[in-house]
Amino acid sequence: MSSLLSQLRLATLPAHAQALRAEVKAFLAEALEPAPPHVRARSWMGFDAAFSRKLAARGWVGVTLPKPYGGADLDAFSRYVLVEELLAVGAPVSAHWIADRQSGPLIVKFGSDVQKAFFLPRICRGEIFFCIGMSEPNAGSDLASVATRARPNDAGWLLNGQKIWTTNAHHCQYMIALVRSSGDKEDRQRGLSQFIIDLSLPGVTVRPIRDLSGDAHFSEVFFDNVQLGPDALVGTEGSGWQQVNAELAFERSGPERIYSSIVLLESWIALLRDSPDGDLHAGDIGRLACHLATLRNMSITVTARLAAGESPVVEAALIKDLGTSFEQEIAQVIESTMGIGNDNPREAELLRTLAYVSQLAPSYSLRGGTREILRGMIARGLGLR
Ligand SMILES: Cc1cc2nc3c(=O)[nH]c(=O)nc-3n(C[C@H](O)[C@H](O)[C@H](O)COP(=O)(O)OP(=O)(O)OC[C@H]3O[C@@H](n4cnc5c(N)ncnc54)[C@H](O)[C@@H]3O)c2cc1C
Repeated sequence: MSSLLSQLRLATLPAHAQALRAEVKAFLAEALEPAPPHVRARSWMGFDAAFSRKLAARGWVGVTLPKPYGGADLDAFSRYVLVEELLAVGAPVSAHWIADRQSGPLIVKFGSDVQKAFFLPRICRGEIFFCIGMSEPNAGSDLASVATRARPNDAGWLLNGQKIWTTNAHHCQYMIALVRSSGDKEDRQRGLSQFIIDLSLPGVTVRPIRDLSGDAHFSEVFFDNVQLGPDALVGTEGSGWQQVNAELAFERSGPERIYSSIVLLESWIALLRDSPDGDLHAGDIGRLACHLATLRNMSITVTARLAAGESPVVEAALIKDLGTSFEQEIAQVIESTMGIGNDNPREAELLRTLAYVSQLAPSYSLRGGTREILRGMIARGLGLR
């Protein structure tokens, strides 16, 4: 066996996680309002606080958080099954998504007892939603050059600066931001810290940005002398870079990096099933299904490493790169088979769904780290750089 393959120990979902699948399916069949594919295709961009609260009432928001704080204390495999089922039907998960995946676990790991007691139960009840403030106009791929600054003062920290592309900032109550808290720009990764920012504070301005599809799911956020309390700091002053990097393997390897176009793919297959020349595309569908099966296995394998307490950052980057290429390819394959304009309502709906996914697909390989940056990490991980 090649040394490359020996590194890849494929894992499977354990039985206890698989057992959750039927429960989630049953819940979704009841709780999810019917919606056409072009709406369901939004899924992890779809903000629906009422749905997130229904899910929370069932105990499935903050699923990996400890029970004393209202969480379900489920492991990463069970969360995998839950997320997979939510995305497969195109449930609107965007409201609670970031808190469930990142902010909650981050607070558990690095937050103070006061922060845990305040934020975690509210996250699990679906009462508060979080966004991630990393990118700035001059700090995207080069995140270490963030210029937003928190200066210590008698009341805590005085915040000034700007974030951009912040998903859901205009809907969320809180942001966890990476900002400079000591030193200078030249210090790069040193002197950065994470803060929980209450977005209703005076001096915060949130301005939504529209994307190519016409949706406004992300925003610019401006901080003009925003007074934060001393308890806004998460973890240790100056450790923001290490804390942020601990989040990235979770952010890059989950089902959301392979399922973004799944509603479109399923709709296409459903239409072809009833079409006299559906078998013309059997080869394409077979190829896409093989890619999906392999990617899913790789993604579960990384989940197993995360569950074992490891930090498989390079493997997660590999999955995001391959997964987002797969998600983009789905739209391209379907585009190449479709005509324009159609009187058949099912085909017209497929075209509407395709139009949305095609317009959003370029962002798959930007959000959460661009393709070029991930490939640089993979090359370094393979000792090629
Ligand atoms: C849909 C969407 C949602 C997002 N949500 C959030 C969010 O919630 N919170 C948040 O903080 N950010 C968010 N972002 C921002 C995202 O993380 C950044 O867009 C991304 O990190 C790239 O940064 P940039 O846009 O500044 O591009 P740049 O870093 O300026 O990159 C521009 C181009 O240059 C390439 N490039 C840059 N450096 C290198 C290099 N060293 N080697 C080779 N090529 C390079 C990049 O790959 C890219 O193609 C979101 C973005 C999108 C599209």
